[in-house]
Formats: sequence, C-alpha cells, structure tokens
Amino acid sequence: MPWEIVIGLEIHAQLATQSKIFSGASTAFGAPPNTQACAVDLGLPGVLPVLNEQAVRCAIRFGRAIQAEIAPRSIFARKNYFYPDLPKGYQISQYELPIVGKGQVHILLADGTRKRIGITRAHLEEDAGKSLHEDFHGYTGIDLNRAGTPLLEIVSEPDLRSPEEAVAYARKIHQIVRWIGISDGNMQEGSFRMDANVSVRPQGAETFGTRTEIKNLNSFRFLERALRFEVDRQIDVLERGGQVVQETRLYDVDRDQTRPMRTKEEANDYRYFPDPDLLPLVLEEEQIARATADLPELPDVKAARFRDQYGLSDYDANLLTSSLAMADYFEAVAQACDNPKLAANWLLGEVSAALNKADLDLEQAPISAEQLAGLLQRIEDGTISNKIAKQVFEALWRGEGPTADAIIEAQGLKQITDRDAISALVDAVIAQHPAQVAQYRAGKEKVLGFLVGQVMKASRGKANPQQVNALLREKLKA
Ligand code: ADP
Ligand code: MG
Repeated sequence: MPWEIVIGLEIHAQLATQSKIFSGASTAFGAPPNTQACAVDLGLPGVLPVLNEQAVRCAIRFGRAIQAEIAPRSIFARKNYFYPDLPKGYQISQYELPIVGKGQVHILLADGTRKRIGITRAHLEEDAGKSLHEDFHGYTGIDLNRAGTPLLEIVSEPDLRSPEEAVAYARKIHQIVRWIGISDGNMQEGSFRMDANVSVRPQGAETFGTRTEIKNLNSFRFLERALRFEVDRQIDVLERGGQVVQETRLYDVDRDQTRPMRTKEEANDYRYFPDPDLLPLVLEEEQIARATADLPELPDVKAARFRDQYGLSDYDANLLTSSLAMADYFEAVAQACDNPKLAANWLLGEVSAALNKADLDLEQAPISAEQLAGLLQRIEDGTISNKIAKQVFEALWRGEGPTADAIIEAQGLKQITDRDAISALVDAVIAQHPAQVAQYRAGKEKVLGFLVGQVMKASRGKANPQQVNALLREKLKA
C-alpha cells in the first residue's frame, strides 16, 4: 500500500538580544556555567519579570516576513512542569494568544515548483537551562545560563509531505530569521532547534495518522535522517498490523534511529494559565510600523528580482539569496562587472568551493566583491582565459596582490593573442610531434586535443585557446 507522509515542524529560534527575555542578564554564548542567570531567571522569591522590548521587536519582524497577522494583544502564560533545569517550575510562554498568528512561506521543490507551507503561529517564550550528562560521572550537571533566553517558537501546519520538504522548509525559516536579523541561527550553539512531528496515512485517506514527535534536532542532516528512519518505522509497524503510539522520541545520532522518550499517557499536563506577573502585551500600530520599517527586501522578493533583472534561473536565484550577505555580494559583483551570469557562476562555483574548503562564511572571504568584479572584467575583455582566471583567483585569495590587474601584471599572466607569437609556438609543437601530426592527417581527429594541450603548455596556459585551435587546424591542413 502506498503511504503518504505528513510532517509539521516546531522550530525554536533564539532571538538576537543582548539580555534575557524577562531580565537584564546577558545572553552571550560560552560563559562559565551558572554565571549568567540572575534572580529573575532563577525565579527567586520577590522578583518580577520585565519584558524585553527587543524580543518583541524580533517577533514583530518575523510576523511581517511571513505575512502573518500580528496580534494587537497577546498573553504570556505559565507552562508548568517539573524538571531539574527549569528553576521556576514553570516556563513563561504564550499559549492561547500568541504574538504572531497564521502566516506562510514558500519552498522550492526539487522539480522546480513552488509550494506554500502554512505557519500556524509563532510565540515568544523563555528557554530553560541545560542538563550536562557527560562531564560528571554518575551525576548530572545543571547549567542555568540559558534559563530565560528569548526564543521564538515557530509552528508549521502539517503541510510537509516528505523529509526533503521538511528540510526545505526548515532551511527557509533559517534563511528568514537570519535575513531579517532576529537570530544568528547558529545550530552548534543551540540557537536554532527543531522538533519534527510525523505521521503516515494510506494514500488518499481523509484523516491524519497518529503522529510521533522527534525532539531537539540541531542540524538539517539529522532532521532528514531522523524523519526517514521514523517514517520507515511507522510504515513497518502499520504493515505488520500494529498501531503507531503517540509519543515523543529522541533521535540517536550514532545509531541513526529514533527511540521513545515519553508516551502520551506520561505526557505532562502543563496546567497553562496567564502569568499574573505579566500584563497582556498590547501593540500599537505605530510600534509595529517602527519594528518593521527597516526590514530588508525579503528573500523570495529578491530572488524573483534577481531572476527577472539579471536573467538567472530560479535555481541560481534561490542559491544566491541563501543569505543576505550572499545576495549583497552577488549584486555588487554583478553590477561592477556588468555580467550577472558570469558573476553568478563564479560565486556559486569557485567562490563557494573555496569557502567550503577553508570552512569560511562569505563574510570572512578574503576576496571582496570589488576584487572579484575586477577579475571577471579581465575575463570578459579577453585579457586572461578562464583557466588563468582561476589561477589569479587563487592568488587573490592568498593575498598575493591587491587586485587582479596587479597579479596579472606581476606574474605575467596576460593572455597571448598575438598571432605571430602563437604561430611560432604551434610550429614548434608540430615539429616536435611528427607521429601525432601524421595520425591527425591520417584522420585521427582526436589527436588535435593533444596538440592544443602541448601548445597551451608551451605558453604556460596563456595562449588564447580559440586562436591556438584555429591556427593548428590551419597549419595541419597545409
Ligand atoms: P502540540 O501542541 O501537542 O505539540 P499541535 O497541534 O500544536 O500539538 O501540533 C504540533 C505540530 O504537530 C504542528 O507543527 C503540527 O503541524 C504537527 N502535527 C499535528 N498533527 C500532525 C499529524 N497527524 N502528523 C504530523 N504532524 C502533525
Ligand atoms: Mg509539540
């Protein structure tokens, strides 16, 4: 029986604020354990939470970016449960009235079509502390630095139909939160974490199957793998005549499998109620306008513009808008060298490969947009071939010169287009390789490639390849 996969994601993005959501304690990453939780974060008697305006601003920006309604009035609630890393015994979250209502994003599918994914809501909440199991033999350590860190929890509709779609959606949310500057999205540091809800149903069924929830995935690769495993497991259970149990599961990276954490029966009754220490969050139109006034052109809008204005494919436009830094870099190069396709090819090819190899972000690239544009201009005007350009690129990357021109000049890399010079090289190669020349003349056309290669080698890569080709043919015919 063919099965249909149904997935919905809950994503926690840590908001880019200096201080906690309800206190003045720092949110900087990497401090020694338990040095960044103040009396408010610890819930000591007599303290009162004060809402961080910057966190609210972040949520508003997100709401606008996903075309959602931003609630004029939202409520903070207490979500009660007992856990060692939750100092107050409750987490302050939003429940019935979240700050961001229904919205949407679009993902690009493998077949090139676009799909709308609904977002149910996004709400503000505080993070808990962290349990450390590795460092203490027989004990669990508790680090409360994270307690009170502002999070935006983004809940999708169950609109995703495969692990690939789930990853595309998660990447889209990751792109947006970074793009609009509300989260650094750093997955190693726990600033972007995903819970995946998944079920399967017979193709064509009206109702959803029973779902499981895989908690706390912190990479796109693990998200995809965990979902793949879980889908196969559920199908296997059903095909054996069993039933999927609604439960929370954990993904074990080392074993590449999910295992149960708690079932619905064991699930907490959170006894949500409005936090009496916090007033309803009331937003005026004017405050929303102020928070969104400087939003940059959004990724999908920019991608569509790149496609239309620069004649790029949807695929390339999508890749070039994977981050705002990438998009800005591309546009600066494209405009300076006046050849957008060449700029796109180099950015997605050479530059991306070099960044990957050096494990750098584009922001850390040793070559500026201006330097790259200078290099591409020399390809365009025929000063250097594509091959030599790669050499100049590497030299620029290593900092061997301030500009492509300086490197071309200093290293004598200018393309040889002088007919007489090339002619002399061709004559020499013909004289040195009588056997190959005879083969070519006997009809073995393939040998031409070898001879071209020899001339190029003799010119140290600098001869214009088209001219070499033409001259060789001409002379071999004679
Ligand atoms: P809860 O608050 O108990 O986690 P929600 O109804 O808020 O439950 O749903 C949480 C997430 O689960 C949402 O992203 C939603 O899209 C997804 N979801 C709900 N039902 C299913 C289902 N049957 N299969 C897969 N995902 C589901
Ligand atoms: Mg849930």
